[in-house]
Amino acid sequence: MDGTRNSLHFIQKRAFEVFNKEAKNTRYSSKQLLDKAFPAIPYSENKHVNVRGNKSPFDGDTTYWSERNSKLYDGETSKALKRQNHTCGHCGLRMFSEERVHLHHIDGNHNNWKTKNLLAIHESCHDYIHMSKGKP
Ligand SMILES: [Zn+2]
Ligand SMILES: [Zn+2]
Repeated sequence: MDGTRNSLHFIQKRAFEVFNKEAKNTRYSSKQLLDKAFPAIPYSENKHVNVRGNKSPFDGDTTYWSERNSKLYDGETSKALKRQNHTCGHCGLRMFSEERVHLHHIDGNHNNWKTKNLLAIHESCHDYIHMSKGKP
């Protein structure tokens, strides 16, 4: 990458010297000739890609839940929680209100909403399940 940039810089420097000589015989300044030859194109590498730190690849099944406000939460998640007696389907610990709860699709197919394919689990447990997937 640096080599490309350096050689481009070298070409521009050479061109500037050439244009400088030419500029004596034209109405353009060498700067204007240089701008014409090398239009300002922003380097794509300068574009900053904003990555949200809390974005995960399985955001699709994220929801929030608490016993107080269960009506605000996704119906399938609260149903799964009731089935599981408000415990995490992965580690078995109790879910607390205001805690982030994920609805995990056991077979990995987010279109499979059959009851036995749905598991309400802690966000951290969900991370663990997906991170350990594909590993022997
Ligand atoms: Zn858990
Ligand atoms: Zn999942």
